[in-house]
Amino acid sequence: MKRILVTGGAGFIGNHLCRRLLNEGSHVICMDNFFTGLKRHIEDLIPNPNFELIEHDITEPVEVECEQIYNLACPASPPHYQYDSVKTMKTSVLGILNMLELAKQNGATVLQASTSEVYGNPLVHPQKETYWGNVNPIGIRSCYDEGKRAAETLMTDYHRQYGVDIRIIRIFNTYGPNMDPKDGRVVSNCIMQALAGEDITIYGDGSQTRSFCYVDDLVDGIIKMMNNTKGFTGPVNLGNPSERTVLDLAQKVLELTGSKSKLSFLPLPSDDPVKRKPDITLAKEILNWEPKVDITEGLTKTIEYFKTV
Ligand code: NAD
Ligand code: UDP
Repeated sequence: MKRILVTGGAGFIGNHLCRRLLNEGSHVICMDNFFTGLKRHIEDLIPNPNFELIEHDITEPVEVECEQIYNLACPASPPHYQYDSVKTMKTSVLGILNMLELAKQNGATVLQASTSEVYGNPLVHPQKETYWGNVNPIGIRSCYDEGKRAAETLMTDYHRQYGVDIRIIRIFNTYGPNMDPKDGRVVSNCIMQALAGEDITIYGDGSQTRSFCYVDDLVDGIIKMMNNTKGFTGPVNLGNPSERTVLDLAQKVLELTGSKSKLSFLPLPSDDPVKRKPDITLAKEILNWEPKVDITEGLTKTIEYFKTV
């Protein structure tokens, strides 16, 4: 039985990943400091003898026996990562340093959950892995973007310098059940507001684009990347290339919920990327991965979940 460490395992993507790995027959060690993660996401897993929960902050060193490390720990929604920006940077940089040291000691493979944010406000569209990005180093999103970029650097340097086995994935906007309804992201905000009959908040004129990937598709890609035997270390984009404007997303949510909510336009936060769409050629070719769930099916399942919370 493989011993697998998932940092950030109580978070949105992390809890889906823990479940999938347990179902595949692995022993899962979930490590989280519960900054944005929720106990109720993993409570039902605690009685499972193959599931261990360690409450730990990854900015501190730790010793755990494991063969694989999925490093997901880091707040991901802008209000959460901007809440304590210094801590966000520490989580990305000190956190991955500690995980790389752990991988070095254990001879483990470490996968870093990087992000489309490494492309910043992209000047190349769609974004390919070879694009170096257009990131403001001193803006309100920089703690997250630059932290993730530094983590990619540490990953590749540990690989070159010490031969640590690494995988880097760049995740694009992901949504689905078990998102925190209060995390401030566009999908959760729109659905919660639509269900409550409140105004839907659109930042700017809503013409900015994102490409939304359903969480089950993403988890398939994450596991395929970790277990690829081609020596492919990445970085690889994982996301759904179906691009839409924020306005279009809000209208889709209104249609699927049957809500009569109105749209309310608010100022656009600074450095908000104008467009974002992954080029997933590499993931298709090397991992034989592409998303299967379209926006209507994914949003319908997500709306059903939000009705229960
Ligand atoms: P999330 O905020 O729901 O989960 C993050 C988890 O990490 C939480 O459980 C939180 O408590 C934990 N955590 C935060 N700081 C920690 C620390 N110092 N020590 C231990 N645990 C800590 O976010 P998510 O959406 O599940 O994202 C998971 C990962 O994927 C993150 O690394 C994020 O940057 C990356 N990512 C997510 C998206 C997305 O659309 N959701 C997009 C790109 C990248
Ligand atoms: N956004 C919005 N209304 C909201 C929350 C977000 O219009 O209530 C916009 C936000 O400005 C951004 C897009 O939706 O342009 C995606 O925001 P999110 O925070 O989900 O992710 P990110 O900006 O990190 O891609």
